[in-house]
Amino acid sequence: MKQSETKAPGMIWSMLQCKCPHCRRGDMFKAANPYKLKSTLEMHKHCPVCGTDFEPEVGFYFGTGYVSYGLCIALTVASFLFCLTTFGFSIKDNSLFYWLGGNVLMLIVLQPVIMRLSRVIWLSFFTKYESKEIAWKHSKHRN
Ligand SMILES: [Zn+2]
Repeated sequence: MKQSETKAPGMIWSMLQCKCPHCRRGDMFKAANPYKLKSTLEMHKHCPVCGTDFEPEVGFYFGTGYVSYGLCIALTVASFLFCLTTFGFSIKDNSLFYWLGGNVLMLIVLQPVIMRLSRVIWLSFFTKYESKEIAWKHSKHRN
């Protein structure tokens, strides 16, 4: 067995790739590109690798609003600190308003990615990671 097959995928990396939080290998979303806006939130019903149910109950993803809000705040703080340390702000010019406009634009452009990440993070709150072998053993019982 190769080293890459035995090593567990990292949590952050698998979240950024929108992988199933249970096995960290199966894709959660049908389209790989989040900017195909018609299919941004189209998800598989079950994980194609381990069979984990991606919608445990009706309305499960209503809670993603909290995660999305947190991500937007984190991005806003990060962009503020970046602009503060790179360009600096002054009350004598419009630099604060340029940052505000740029930040709003950034959040709008990143919205499809933020929505997907929110779903992955929200599902991972309620799903425990299991290694490939255990996850596959469980999937046999489901099918
Ligand atoms: Zn899975």
